Amino acid sequence: MSGDRRVRVRIAPSPTGYLHVGNVRAALFNWLFARRHGGVFIIRIDDTDRARSDDRYIEDVVSGFRWLGLDWDEGVEVGGPHGTYRQSDRFDRYREVADRLIDMGRAYHDFRSTEEMEELRARARVEKKPPGYYVRRPPGSDPDTARRRLGAGEQAVVRFSNPGRAVGFTDVVRGEVRFEADAIDDFVILRSDGSPTYHLASTVDDIDYGITHVARGEDLLSSTPKHILITEALGGERPVYAHLPLLFGPDGRKLSKRHGDTSLRAYREGGYLPEAVFNYMGLLGWSLDPDNEVFGREEAIAAFDLADVQKSPAVFDPDKLGWMNGVYMRSMATGRFTDLAVASVEEDLGRDLDGDERSRLAGLAPLIQERAKLTTDIGPAARFLFSDITYDDKAWRKVMKADARRALAAARRMLENVGDWNAANIEKALRDMLAAESLNPRKGWQPIRVAITGSNISPPLFESLEALPGEVALARIAAAIARLDLQAGAG
Ligand code: GLU
Repeated sequence: MSGDRRVRVRIAPSPTGYLHVGNVRAALFNWLFARRHGGVFIIRIDDTDRARSDDRYIEDVVSGFRWLGLDWDEGVEVGGPHGTYRQSDRFDRYREVADRLIDMGRAYHDFRSTEEMEELRARARVEKKPPGYYVRRPPGSDPDTARRRLGAGEQAVVRFSNPGRAVGFTDVVRGEVRFEADAIDDFVILRSDGSPTYHLASTVDDIDYGITHVARGEDLLSSTPKHILITEALGGERPVYAHLPLLFGPDGRKLSKRHGDTSLRAYREGGYLPEAVFNYMGLLGWSLDPDNEVFGREEAIAAFDLADVQKSPAVFDPDKLGWMNGVYMRSMATGRFTDLAVASVEEDLGRDLDGDERSRLAGLAPLIQERAKLTTDIGPAARFLFSDITYDDKAWRKVMKADARRALAAARRMLENVGDWNAANIEKALRDMLAAESLNPRKGWQPIRVAITGSNISPPLFESLEALPGEVALARIAAAIARLDLQAGAG
């Protein structure tokens, strides 16, 4: 166990794809644990698979964690006492350790072919033994013979030599875990091309970097006895292990693309707020308070403990994340939301807003805020204020029916006489219009909404009209009337 050592934890993504939500959840729990204990959070890059690793995925890891606000004390980009924190820069170190294990008699060169190994595994299957039962040190694998054969150009992998005993450990999440000796084969630590396997590289790094707690996905549980054996052989200090529950989809099956986006990038680009994603990820296997699912960073840091992580699978539900994002959107301070709205609209329009446009947007922003679930909802909701509209076909057909022309014409007349162009006066005019024309609000007002915004879904009508310059609103109503006349003529 780690005794009184300062907490040092790590997340070790493999840059072979965009950062997965499972890795984000593991990173968050490690980060919370480090911050709670005044410890060190490290980002290491597990890029031993050079063919499949790509720097753009490292960039994705770095920008993803920064976006989420998970700062790290050592690791890729920020550096630290252990070099680049990239495994691809440490192959010499892993080979040196493998050589040491060979010298100690704890590892050996294995010259057997893939076919031979397959036969051994098939035999174990037939005899209903664990798959690695016969994968053991063959006769004639002593260092002298191996050196001679390697010298003659033969190819070999290096296997760890299992001492043939059970391995047990106390997992912070899962409790007592035990692997029988039969279940642990003589696993490969160096491939025949001299590259290290995950088991070797990860264990050597965890020892060299002084990692005190390894909190990672439960899919890696069966690797842990191997890592413990290597650690013991090298005289390293065994970290505390915590295997985090797997992520399932809402249907109770293992999380996959079928359930929706599984990369952090998709949510970053899809209009989600970092604090909402942070909060939601914190619910995947842990809870601060069963009655309150909404919490902030400081609260989570103060309360987090790996020992409180649940054993049973956690459900990742994109719909619930969407709901939570809406909660954060609505609770954002008005000023911050308005800034966000200005930025979103400017991006949507591809130009800057001038002072007058900004103040018109600021007027409508609170009403957009009440309805927005995603930041990407803001641009489309405000677009009608600053650029020509295009009618949504479905909305037009649904709304522009029998009474629409009459409603629009009457609204235009009444609105022309509104003195001070504000929501209260606009509302009064449009209520008078309903009374005069004997129309209900749906029939009377929906055509106006489509006429001025292009859509039948928009911020509230009177405020939307107020946010437009009066002459623009009137011109749009006139244009809709003209279009109806054109359709009537054509029909
Ligand atoms: N590179 C491994 C992964 O991305 C992490 C392994 C570990 O945490 O030990 O799943």
